[in-house]
Amino acid sequence: MKDEKAQKPPLREKIDFERLGREELLTVQKEDVDGVVEISLRPRKIGEFVGQENLKENLRIALEAARKRKEPLEHVLLSGPPGLGKTTLAHIIAHEMGAKIMATSGPAIERAGDLIGILTNLEEGDILFIDEIHRLSKVVEEFIYPAMEDFKIDFVVDKGPYAKTIKFALKRFTLIGATTRQGLLSSPLRDRFGVSFHLEFYEPEDLTKIIQRSGKLLSIAIEKEAAFELARRSRGTPRVANKLLRRVRDYAQVKSIDKITVEVVNKALLGHGIDPSGLDVLDRKVLKTILEVYGGGPVGIESLAATLNEEVDTIVDVVEPYLLKSGFLKRTARGRETTPLASGHLDLSGNSSKSPDLFSAKK
Ligand code: ADP
Repeated sequence: MKDEKAQKPPLREKIDFERLGREELLTVQKEDVDGVVEISLRPRKIGEFVGQENLKENLRIALEAARKRKEPLEHVLLSGPPGLGKTTLAHIIAHEMGAKIMATSGPAIERAGDLIGILTNLEEGDILFIDEIHRLSKVVEEFIYPAMEDFKIDFVVDKGPYAKTIKFALKRFTLIGATTRQGLLSSPLRDRFGVSFHLEFYEPEDLTKIIQRSGKLLSIAIEKEAAFELARRSRGTPRVANKLLRRVRDYAQVKSIDKITVEVVNKALLGHGIDPSGLDVLDRKVLKTILEVYGGGPVGIESLAATLNEEVDTIVDVVEPYLLKSGFLKRTARGRETTPLASGHLDLSGNSSKSPDLFSAKK
């Protein structure tokens, strides 16, 4: 791929925009073993999207207003921890606007040139979804500004004395950016989004509805109390809820159990290291390290990540938000600290310093 890129002819008429954009960048992100199921469980209409009532209300108004004006929706920024529904919402917005959606992600766009093909292929009203938009490079970000603001791009072809700038008018499209770290977005980029929505962790009641819906779609018989128990232990996150539901289904299938009860949930989750509060192995590992290695903190994120042998991003994006929200952890100017709730919880769940197995267990 890299070689092909290097050989690309620099002149505009020779650039195959079609191929440039689509092949390399328009990939569905976040594919995992359960990827296919993940997609089939994704709500398609705003009415099927459970919870986030405030957000939905404001989104409905924005959609309705744009439709009435017969204009594309303004650029939308979606922020919040992973698995709360940002990608789902982007697809719902496209569906509600009757628009085509192209999806890519910040890290996939290495150079400004990578975006030219995509942008010039967008039709009026099309949606460009950029996941992890905070990971765009500065150069690419600056290239996007005029595209967002004035629907035009300038790009330089050829090098040295033959270099020339070509201006390109784009159709009016809607950019939907998703980020787990709104704080990392530069303010010029943030300011170019007309609408900004923040997704909050879900309450167990909403997650129960999501689990019941997924149960129906996957033909899993699950009692309401069992769905609630699963919801309570899903870290406030629909993606986790759906994942745990599939693990509980596996357990039930292997044990030839027809209907999932609270007892089945408890037994199945035990095998996956999910404790009664819904904390998983990595959550407990983080709390335990702060408590035992750093005397409860404060500890800087870099030191913590190094001790845990984990990526800083994993801790900041995936682990920490839920621990902060549920009161096990607090963030101070000097670093992360555990709360009395954390020490009490680890004692209760039998994870004192005498259980080194937690360190060897894989997430
Ligand atoms: P993000 O982009 O924020 O990481 P996704 O949009 O990929 O999260 O959501 C993960 C999964 O969770 C989706 O496939 C979908 O099945 C489910 N999901 C997310 N939010 C909701 C919701 N509000 N209602 C129902 N299912 C949801």
